[in-house]
Order: sequence, then C-alpha cells, then structure tokens
Amino acid sequence: MSTAHDAANPRHDAPSPLHNAEPPLLTLESVGKRYRGRPALDGVSLAVAPGETVGLVGESGSGKSTLARLALGLLAPDTGTVRFAGRDPYRLRGRADRALRGRLQFVPQHPRGSLNPSLRAGEAVAFALRLHGTPRAERAAAVAGLFERVGLEPALAARYPRELSGGQLQRVAVARALATRPSLLVCDEPTSALDRAVQARLLDLLTELRERTGLAYLFISHDLAVVRRLADRVLVLRHGRVVEEGPADRLWDSPEHPYTRALLDAATGAAPPAN
Ligand code: ADP
Ligand code: MG
Repeated sequence: MSTAHDAANPRHDAPSPLHNAEPPLLTLESVGKRYRGRPALDGVSLAVAPGETVGLVGESGSGKSTLARLALGLLAPDTGTVRFAGRDPYRLRGRADRALRGRLQFVPQHPRGSLNPSLRAGEAVAFALRLHGTPRAERAAAVAGLFERVGLEPALAARYPRELSGGQLQRVAVARALATRPSLLVCDEPTSALDRAVQARLLDLLTELRERTGLAYLFISHDLAVVRRLADRVLVLRHGRVVEEGPADRLWDSPEHPYTRALLDAATGAAPPAN
C-alpha cells in the first residue's frame, strides 16, 4: 500500500475521535457469544465514535461475522452489553424505533445473496426508502440521487441483480444502506468477493462517502491490507478474543502479537490470505 494515500488523507492529522467529547455511537462491553457451548466471542469490548472507522481483522472463524450480527441487533449476546446510540440494538424492533434503526446499516459480503432477485435494483432501494418513511412521491428522485452518490448510472436502476456485475451490486447494496440516512455502516467483508481493481474502487467510494457525510464504519475483513486502507483504529480478533488493537498504521508498521504479524505476512506476501 502506498503512503501517498495516507498523506492525502487529512483525517490522519485530525485529533483522535477517541478524545473528543461525543459519546460513542456503538459500544460492546465484555461481549460473549457461544454456539453449542463453544465460544465464538469471549469478552470482546469495542467502541465506535461518530465519524470514526474501526477495523476488525481476523482469519476465517475468528468471530467477525458474529460480532457484526451482535452490533446490528440480529443476535443477542449471552454475556455483556451492546449499545447503539445508548440503546440495545436487539430491541430496536417497534415502529417508534424505525428512525434509530435506520441509523444503523449493513453492507454484506455477498450482495447477490442479500438482494431479492425478482426486484429491480431501483426497486430494492425504493423499498428501503419506503420502510424508512420516505413518501411515495419523493422516492424516484431519492433513488436517482442515491445511485448518483454511489457512482451508478441511473439507468441501472431498471436492471435485475442478475444483470449487474459484482461491483455494481455492491454499490446497489451501499445505496440501499444509505437510503435510511445511517450514522454507522457495518461492513462485513464488503470487498472480499470482488477482484482487486473493483475492490479498490469500492474502498475509494466508502472513503469518499465518509468524508462527505461523516459516516462511521465498523469495517470487517480477513485482509489487514484492506482494513488498513480505511480504518483509523484496528482490532485483531483471534478465536473470539481481541489479541491486539491500535492505530492502523502502528499495527501495520510494528505489529506486537505474533498473530497480527502472521496476518500482515498474509496481506503482503505472495500467498493469498486464507478465507
Ligand atoms: P468469521 O466471520 O470470522 O469467519 P464467524 O463469526 O462466522 O467467524 O464464526 C465464529 C465461530 O462461530 C466459528 O467457529 C463458526 O463455526 C461458529 N458459528 C458461527 N455462526 C454459527 C451458527 N449459526 N451456528 C453454529 N456455529 C456458528
Ligand atoms: Mg465472516
């Protein structure tokens, strides 16, 4: 990875969001989750401040997706607490919580699996707008605006998922997530199904969206090189525990834990990282 990207990124000179006065958007405190008696997460704590990008890296099976599902309120922890904007996301279910629920959104690993194959791309985004309470008369313009914001030709709104490329589908997934005006996007391996050039352009899009809207990300990947491109701070997950955390550049330049070093070798070496 070039350092030119970092030099061009003014965020690196900004004071750490950890030190500002705003309360965190998302917190996990000593969270544990077991599947059939086996721990998938064991005592994990993390916080994401408004506008901050926290990276989560670890190999396959380390508990990353479990953490994403807990953060999104799709799963309840066995022990510990999860809070989004001071509320338990697992209990944000009622109509009264609709606006707050919309502030917490998801970009999946496989958009083809998460988009209804019988809905045109624009309809999928319009459906999210409808759930968020956007009046019918405003939806077409809002869809066009969202397509433009994620770098898709508005004409692509008429296509079905099977008529779109992986990169285009991932942009539709981002547009759909943005429809509810989120303050936090949980991205679980959003680029790992894409080839390198498409991957780089999607990361550029996520960076640009953050700069324009002040979005926060919980950005998950098995690839430390990908996480480092976006994250202010990175947590390294192994067997459901955080083994190291720190500023992205510090982890990259001088990893302390042998497991972080192995992830770094996988990210920079010739061998493709396992996942
Ligand atoms: P990652 O996303 O890092 O690959 P996961 O969170 O998907 O890791 O999985 C963590 C561990 O929990 C793995 O051992 C996995 O097999 C197990 N696991 C995840 N989901 C389930 C489930 N629904 N039922 C049983 N075991 C699960
Ligand atoms: Mg996963």
